[in-house]
Amino acid sequence: MGKKDRRWDKPPTETLRVREGFTVDGFDCASTPGFPGDEDDGERFMEDRGETLSDLQEQLFAEGRSGGTRSVLLVLQGMDTSGKGGIVRHVLGMVDPQGVQHTSFGVPTAEERSHHYLWRIERALPSAGKIGVFDRSHYEDVLVVRVHNLVAADVWGARYDEINAWEQRRIDEGTRIIKCALMVSPERQLERLAERLDRPDKHWKYNPGDLDERAHWDAYMQAYQAVFDRCSTESAPWYAIPADNKWFARLAVSELLATTLEDMNLTWPAADFDVDAEKARIAALHD
Ligand code: AMP
Ligand code: MG
Repeated sequence: MGKKDRRWDKPPTETLRVREGFTVDGFDCASTPGFPGDEDDGERFMEDRGETLSDLQEQLFAEGRSGGTRSVLLVLQGMDTSGKGGIVRHVLGMVDPQGVQHTSFGVPTAEERSHHYLWRIERALPSAGKIGVFDRSHYEDVLVVRVHNLVAADVWGARYDEINAWEQRRIDEGTRIIKCALMVSPERQLERLAERLDRPDKHWKYNPGDLDERAHWDAYMQAYQAVFDRCSTESAPWYAIPADNKWFARLAVSELLATTLEDMNLTWPAADFDVDAEKARIAALHD
């Protein structure tokens, strides 16, 4: 078998899915589960899958334009430097930008703070036919908020069930939710932060606060574990994506997205006009 024929041995929907008993502790962030190839194989295969992804996305978009109500929501979480932005650029970059609805969630603004934490999330939900991408999400409200005690423990403690119920409503309304946690090791994070300092073209990405957040690594990992334990549901499971190798993380997320779209049995919408009559009208204009 030639290198370019490399495919998944086992699909990421299986290998990366967070099931009961999953532990963050001991997770190998540098692994490439289910993919037998190297970076070159990964990049070539990703291009291949990108074409599929692009076609499926167009069908989803067409469905939305033709009265369909379905949409897809990709939720990206991960520590600083885990590669969330790269997923947006390299994975969503393979599809038509008009079909993508991208939102990044930072520290809530004064207006956002005056509302329920799901308010800003709800406003950013993808409309019919769109692929929504969240760079950070409502999960920050049980991650950074928990680590830094930004609200009382009983308040964030009640959010897991609330988030599950909220996601279930979105699913019932026709949104497929794909939740990806990009798992970077502390060693690789340090390398990436150092690289940002070494390269003037990356200084804009460097935030001195990231080093302070890094000091809370263990608390963050506990908070991620709680998210996995409580919010990896049957209808909206979490996927833990090893992200020390960016090429693998991108390939895996592409595959999860493509698989989800394939599973939606998308078709091209039928014309709501008489195709033959329109052809006849055009033919008449040639005469
Ligand atoms: P970045 O993604 O690098 O632009 O950083 C965004 C920052 O916003 C991160 O430090 C997040 O932890 C922070 N953030 C996002 N959502 C919340 C939230 N709900 N409460 C507090 N901080 C948040
Ligand atoms: Mg940052």
